[in-house]
Amino acid sequence: METIQALEKVKRTTARVCSLCNQRKAALKRPKTLEQICIECFYNVFEDEIHRVIIENNLFKPGERVAIGASGGKDSTVLAYVLSELNRRHNYGLDLFLLSVDEGITGYRDDSLETVKRNELQYGLPLKIVSYKELYGWTMDEIVKAIGLKNNCTFCGVFRRQALDRGAALIQADKIVTGHNADDIAETVLLNILRGDIARLSRCTDITTGENGPIPRCKPFKYAYEKEIEVKTKSLTLSTYAYFKKLDYFSTECIYSPNAYRGFAREFIKDLERIRPSAILDIIRSGENFRISTTTRMPEQGTCQRCGYISSQKLCKACVLLDGLNRGLPKLGIGRKKECTRENSNNQEQIKRNPENKGPSLHSKHGNIEF
Ligand code: SF4
Repeated sequence: METIQALEKVKRTTARVCSLCNQRKAALKRPKTLEQICIECFYNVFEDEIHRVIIENNLFKPGERVAIGASGGKDSTVLAYVLSELNRRHNYGLDLFLLSVDEGITGYRDDSLETVKRNELQYGLPLKIVSYKELYGWTMDEIVKAIGLKNNCTFCGVFRRQALDRGAALIQADKIVTGHNADDIAETVLLNILRGDIARLSRCTDITTGENGPIPRCKPFKYAYEKEIEVKTKSLTLSTYAYFKKLDYFSTECIYSPNAYRGFAREFIKDLERIRPSAILDIIRSGENFRISTTTRMPEQGTCQRCGYISSQKLCKACVLLDGLNRGLPKLGIGRKKECTRENSNNQEQIKRNPENKGPSLHSKHGNIEF
């Protein structure tokens, strides 16, 4: 009896040793591989995985100027840190910059930008900030006053996407990188299915998008899980890398975040992951293997007649929204009018069936879809 107990004890102790170095105590269980590893090995495998993704997908070329979309949040902070480390360690030869968008949200973005300004010094990366006020003449605080809290993220998402592109053009960047991780991408796949948004579903899993546009965007964290399982408590720990590395990041939610629809999708994926940790990668794989029927008409890309930004309509969505705001009719651009929706031309049938899919969703993970 005593021998069995002793053996059990040895088994328990052994199970807690890192399966990679076989020396230190395992602190995390990786949902992706189910390995139990120590913090030091976690740093190494995490960084190695990102490096492999970068190399295998040819994300960068030596000499490129790369703008890191930096919000001050955990993902973009980890991205800035890891990318500058890997750039040094593996001689990528990249010129890295931090690029932030100031939406003009008092009590949220002003505070998070302070974090980015500290990151600029901590990582020695030059920072460029572009603001909605200077680009569009409106802050999000002013837009929320005009439109209320229902459609604010539509404005914010459309404006942010353009703002990032314009900021990147100002610093002559060849590429924009964002901190979207596997959880974000799985969530977006699901949302695009729920909204019947075939056009976005077909491209939301691409690691690089906009290759035919002026500045491509890529997601080096495409396969990186947002959470790891803490061995001790068996609970999922958020932002593990940022937390254990003690990176300086900002974790408050936007004060205008409605997040209702996306929030449900996020919770659903979290529940799935608890039951089956591979669910996140499986959803991404399903998205990758999604094929559009040849009879589905896709939007033709052109440029906005007013500002020259890419658009499948005469006016880009930002110009339509801005028109509405400036004319005191802020809801003008968020209705179901044909000219107001980027992809209405091919999605009329889907929109009729699914009223949720009534506007473009070029949004960030703050509330909407970005990809
Ligand atoms: Fe903008 Fe995100 Fe806030 Fe919505 S939640 S208003 S998209 S920052």
